[in-house]
Amino acid sequence: MKNLFIDGMWTASSSGATSDTVNPFDGSVLTTVSEASTIDVDRAVNAGRVAFDTGPWPRTPAIERGRILAQVADLLGQERESIATTESLDTGKTLKEGRLDVDDVVAVLRYYAALADKHAGRVVDAGSHTVTSRIVSEPVGVCALIAPWNYPLLQMAWKLAPALAAGNTVVIKPSEVTPLSTIALVRLLERAQIPAGVVNLLLGAGDSVGAAMVAHPDVDLISFTGGLATGEKIMAAAARGVRRVALELGGKNPNVVFADTDFDIAVDHALTAAFLHSGQVCSAGSRLIVQEEIHDSFVAALAARADRIRLGSGLDPQTECGPLVSAEHRAKVEAYIQGALAEGARLLAGGGRPEEPELAKGFFLRPTVFTGCTRDMTVVRDEVFGPVLTVERFSTEQEAIRIANDTDYGLAGAVWTTDAGRAQRVAGALRHGTVWINDYHPYLPQAEWGGFGKSGIGRELGPSGLEEYQEMKHIYHNVLPEPARWFAG
Ligand code: NAD
Repeated sequence: MKNLFIDGMWTASSSGATSDTVNPFDGSVLTTVSEASTIDVDRAVNAGRVAFDTGPWPRTPAIERGRILAQVADLLGQERESIATTESLDTGKTLKEGRLDVDDVVAVLRYYAALADKHAGRVVDAGSHTVTSRIVSEPVGVCALIAPWNYPLLQMAWKLAPALAAGNTVVIKPSEVTPLSTIALVRLLERAQIPAGVVNLLLGAGDSVGAAMVAHPDVDLISFTGGLATGEKIMAAAARGVRRVALELGGKNPNVVFADTDFDIAVDHALTAAFLHSGQVCSAGSRLIVQEEIHDSFVAALAARADRIRLGSGLDPQTECGPLVSAEHRAKVEAYIQGALAEGARLLAGGGRPEEPELAKGFFLRPTVFTGCTRDMTVVRDEVFGPVLTVERFSTEQEAIRIANDTDYGLAGAVWTTDAGRAQRVAGALRHGTVWINDYHPYLPQAEWGGFGKSGIGRELGPSGLEEYQEMKHIYHNVLPEPARWFAG
């Protein structure tokens, strides 16, 4: 089994170690992949180092790097169905969502392919005709890119596309839970003839392979998407050697619904906000905050629809929600449900595993709605990362803003109202990196994504997503030098 990609070669782990990848629909083994050793980590980082210091990629014209990224986008488009199917099998998400993920990644690759040569720098007015002053952007160096399991292909592409466009070399690691789509993506990069050593793929557990990557002194930048606790460890590791670090962490995202909103549309979106991909979405609208005039009818309509959500295999076109990603993760979410009941939250929908015998082997949980929630409850404060929605009520605009901002996180949020002035006031007051007005979940490759507070540091997507991977250099050229005449002797 040769699933590691180091210095342009597919290779097995130097230790011979392997691990199984499990289908969350029925617990069966999908495939077995190599598990990198610390020797492999060292080899991969060294390959990235040599390719950065002496190889062609950082010195290749940006327009040419963009051409190769665009070629990867073309290849990915051609492989859409097979990679979407792989993603669905590995994560449990519906094939429909897997296809949309592939489409989004194609768009992100194309965006950075086009942007690659548009950030050449700028000329500064130095106040003298005999001086030219330029700001140029250069790649940072060897970047360690680490992704989570909920959007394996997409989260890796948000890092990989700008890192490569900027001329860096990379060592990448998908989550050990969902490695398959990243292996497929690296095969496409190989087909697009990315030079050896520019992209190196490692597989394996976070606390061994991931930790060795971020500790490696030849890594210049770490970009991580994952949980808060891991992010804190990574930031501490990056401090050694003063390496650059970008963190995309969790969220506990408020979805604020005012009474004047279009009721049915807001109910429909509240359902998608909370239960898309079984709630395993960093920006999931897991905290619904509803104005009291419509609170009872809104949650009743929502709970009724939650009860009708069809669970099943991601490959079944009838399925609306797949399983959770693993047995361990489901157990964690179930503990939150028990905790919420113990803390006095009122269960309106779901709360347990489905009864259908054909789903018994999978890691399923019914979409769950709790009302009567208060902000001191653990289920309201922690990121549950599963199909669990808490509902709080408010009366005034100020109260809604206070509740929405009362979280350690600050990734995303939404406001629903037909009053345009109020929509703008609330959007302006929310301390979250993305705010949707009368919508939930869309993002654009051109628009920055990232978090306030403990949701992270730095931004992905948009021009800032490219700048994360660039060093700025000031080149000051005195064309007609004269003595400085500072010292007389
Ligand atoms: P996780 O933190 O457990 O793991 C993420 C990645 O880090 C995996 O590849 C893992 O192997 C690796 N890792 C774990 N420990 C490590 C260590 N000590 N050193 C280096 N690497 C290590 O997160 P997860 O459970 O895979 O993903 C879920 C989390 O990701 C949620 O909190 C979710 O909100 C967050 N997320 C955030 C965004 C965003 O855009 N902000 C997007 C998707 C997911």
